[in-house]
Amino acid sequence: MIILKNARLIGPLTEGYDGQYADIWVDNGRIAEIRPQGWTPSGSGLYPEGVQIIDARQNTVMPGLIDMHAHVYMKSLDFNKVKGLDAAHSVLNAYMYAGEYLKAGYTTVRDCGCMYNVTVALEEARKAGELLVPRLISSGQILTPTETGNDTFGELYVEADSPEEVRKAARRQFQLKNDFIKYMVTGAFLNEKGSPGMVIAALDELKAAVEIAEMKESYVCGHAHSAEGIKRAIAAGIRTVEHGVFLDDECIDLFQKTPNCYLVPTGAITIACEGDTEFLSDNLKEKAYQYFEEERNNINKAYQAGLKMGFGSDLDMENFVQNIGYEFTARTDYYNFKPMDILLQATKNSAEIMKLDDITGTIKVGKMADLIVCDGNPDENIRVMNKPLLHVMAEGKIVY
Ligand SMILES: [Zn+2]
Repeated sequence: MIILKNARLIGPLTEGYDGQYADIWVDNGRIAEIRPQGWTPSGSGLYPEGVQIIDARQNTVMPGLIDMHAHVYMKSLDFNKVKGLDAAHSVLNAYMYAGEYLKAGYTTVRDCGCMYNVTVALEEARKAGELLVPRLISSGQILTPTETGNDTFGELYVEADSPEEVRKAARRQFQLKNDFIKYMVTGAFLNEKGSPGMVIAALDELKAAVEIAEMKESYVCGHAHSAEGIKRAIAAGIRTVEHGVFLDDECIDLFQKTPNCYLVPTGAITIACEGDTEFLSDNLKEKAYQYFEEERNNINKAYQAGLKMGFGSDLDMENFVQNIGYEFTARTDYYNFKPMDILLQATKNSAEIMKLDDITGTIKVGKMADLIVCDGNPDENIRVMNKPLLHVMAEGKIVY
C-alpha cells in the first residue's frame, strides 16, 4: 500500500471528492481512498504496517497524462533516420522512447502507427510486469490507399485499395492484436510529393474499415487535413479525426451533431516543423509555413465552438525528449486554449474518447492509480508542464 500525502487536487480532474487537498491511498494498483490530509481508518492515527508514504508537499497531483497521437518508434523528423529502419532498431527506439513517455507522466499512450507490430509486444511485456512502459493502445500499421510518398516511411504503411482490400488489411491489424485502425483519409504534410489537403480515401473504403472495426468493438482513427476529408471521415463513422488543419464551419457543425466523433489536434508537430528543422526539405518547410496561421485559426475556432477534443502531439521522439510538455505549451501559445481545458484534454477527455474512462483519466476511487506529482500548479501556470515531474505512478507502481 502507498499513501500519497498532501496532494493538491484540481476539481474537474477529481471525482467523488470536493476538497482541495487530500491523501490518496493506493492499494493493489488502484485508488482505494481519497481522504482529507492525515486521515486514518476509524481515526486511529495509525497507518497500516509496511505502508509506503510519499509526500506531495501540497504540489498538484493529476491523473496520468494521455497522448492520443504518438509514434513511439519515430526517432526523428529526419527521414534518413527512420527510412528503411530495420526491425531491431524499430524495437529499440520504441522501447526506449516509450520509457521516455512514462517518465514525462504519460501513463497511457495511443500509438497511431508503428512498424513490426512493436507496440503490441511492448504492451504485452508491460502487462506481464516485465517492462516499464506506458499503457499502449496500438493501431499497428497504418492503412492507406496506394499513394505517392508511402515508401518514405516503409513498413509503417500497408496499402489497401477497394473495400475488399481494406477489410483484409483491417482484419490483419486486429489479428495482430492491435486495438484500433489508423487510416490515411487525406495526404500528409510530411510527404514530399503529396498534398495534405487532397482526399485520398474513398467513402466505401473508409466504411469498410469502420465495419470491421465495429465488429471488433473498436473504431477507426482517421488522419485528415482538408475539410472535404474530415467530412468524408465523419460520414464514414470514423471516431477520431487527427490533425484537422483545414477544418471549416461545416466540419465544426458536423462534429457537434455527430456523437462519438472527436477532433484530435496535434499542435506540437506543427511548431516543431516551424522551428529549427534542418532535415526538412525546403518544399516540406514551405508547406508547413504556408498553413501555419490557417491551422491556428481553424483549430481555435473549433475550440471556441466548444468541441470536445483529444490530446495528441504526433511529435518525433527527439523533439519530445528535448521539449518536455511541448503539446501543453503548443495549445496555449499556438491554439490559444485555456490551461484548464488543456489539462482536461490531456486526461479526462482523452480517456473518454478512447473509452478508457473506467480505468483512468480522473482521480477517482476504484480507478487505476495513474498519478503524477507536478512541480507546481499547472492549472495556474501551464509552464509547470515544461518541468520534470516529482513523481510518476502507473497502476500503483512508483515508476519515477
Ligand atoms: Zn501521426
